[in-house]
Amino acid sequence: MTWLLDCDGVVWLAEQAIAGAREAVTTLRASGHRVVLLTNNSFPRRSDHLAKLERMGMPTDPADVLSSAMAAALLLEAGERALVLGGPGVIEELTARGVTTVTPGTGREVGPVDAVVVGMDPSFDFSSLAAAAAALRAGARLIGTNNDPAFPTPAGMLPGAGALLAAVARAGEAAPTIAGKPYPPTVALVRERVGEVEIVVGDRPSTDGLLARRLETRFGLVLTGVTPAGHGQLDPEPDLEASDLLALAQAELH
Ligand SMILES: [Mg+2]
Repeated sequence: MTWLLDCDGVVWLAEQAIAGAREAVTTLRASGHRVVLLTNNSFPRRSDHLAKLERMGMPTDPADVLSSAMAAALLLEAGERALVLGGPGVIEELTARGVTTVTPGTGREVGPVDAVVVGMDPSFDFSSLAAAAAALRAGARLIGTNNDPAFPTPAGMLPGAGALLAAVARAGEAAPTIAGKPYPPTVALVRERVGEVEIVVGDRPSTDGLLARRLETRFGLVLTGVTPAGHGQLDPEPDLEASDLLALAQAELH
C-alpha cells in the first residue's frame, strides 16, 4: 500500500531526524509499501529534501518527494510572471513550469506580474511586503504555498508561511488561493503524482488530517510534532494514533 508521510513533526524536526523514523521508513519499504513524503515547507529545493533524506538514512526516489511548492506551481501557467516571496524551492518549481520569477529587493524593477507567490521566506521584510502589496493592488492574484501559522523546530515553534501570507493578504487587501495541505491543489498533486493513498500520517489534524479526508483515506496521527500527548478532541479525529511513526508502522504491519 502507499503511505503519504508529512515531514516536519513526523520524519524530522527541522534538521533533526525523529527517533525511529529511519527504521519505520526502511521497514515499510522492505515490506513492499510505497512511502511518499509530502511537506508543506516550500523553501528547500527538491534536491535539498532528497539530500536531507539521504543524510538521515532514508534515500528516496525523486518521484516520492512532494512539496507545497509543486502544488503552487500548478496554479500558474507557462509564460506567466510571478513575484516570489519565498525560497529556492518555489523558484525552482515555478521555473520548471515555465513561469518567469522576480524577487523583491534585488534592486531591479519588479514590473507587472500575474501573481504574487508567498512561501516561507526568512528574508521577509517591510520592503518585500510593500512590493507584494503594490503588485496585488495592480491586479496580480495572490497564491500562498501553504497556510501553516507556525512550524515546529527543536528550538520551538517558528512563524510559518501562513503568517507571512496573512500580512501580504492584509496589506494588499487580496484573498489568497492556497496550494499546500489540505487545499485542492495538493489533493490534485497527490492524485496526479501518487494515485491511490491508503494512509496519510501527520502531526497536524487541520492539514494532514483534512488532507486524508479529502483523499478519502485514513489519517494516522503521531505525537512527535505539534499535537501533544493528552490532547483533547481533534478535528478531524484520527483513524489511528501512535506516539511516533515507528509505533504506527509497527501497529499497521502487525
Ligand atoms: Mg507536520
